[in-house]
Amino acid sequence: MALQIGKDCFSCYACETVCPEGAISIAANTFVINPNLCNECSDIKSPRCMAICPEPNAISVAD
Ligand code: SF4
Ligand code: SF4
Repeated sequence: MALQIGKDCFSCYACETVCPEGAISIAANTFVINPNLCNECSDIKSPRCMAICPEPNAISVAD
């Protein structure tokens, strides 16, 4: 399982700075989460990127 960043993202960079796995990157002005690196912050049971994102609908659990 991993999280994904959707179209509501407005590229504030906040999530990229808090991801401990280096799973979030930006390419062509779009932020993406690498599903091979994201562990849903299983160490704290609560995704850091979701917690810090100012846009409530930008980050969701991948299908
Ligand atoms: S859930 Fe955690 S590991 Fe996954 S992208 Fe967000 S901050 Fe990184
Ligand atoms: S914190 Fe939210 S709005 Fe900011 S770059 Fe990440 S997904 Fe986009």
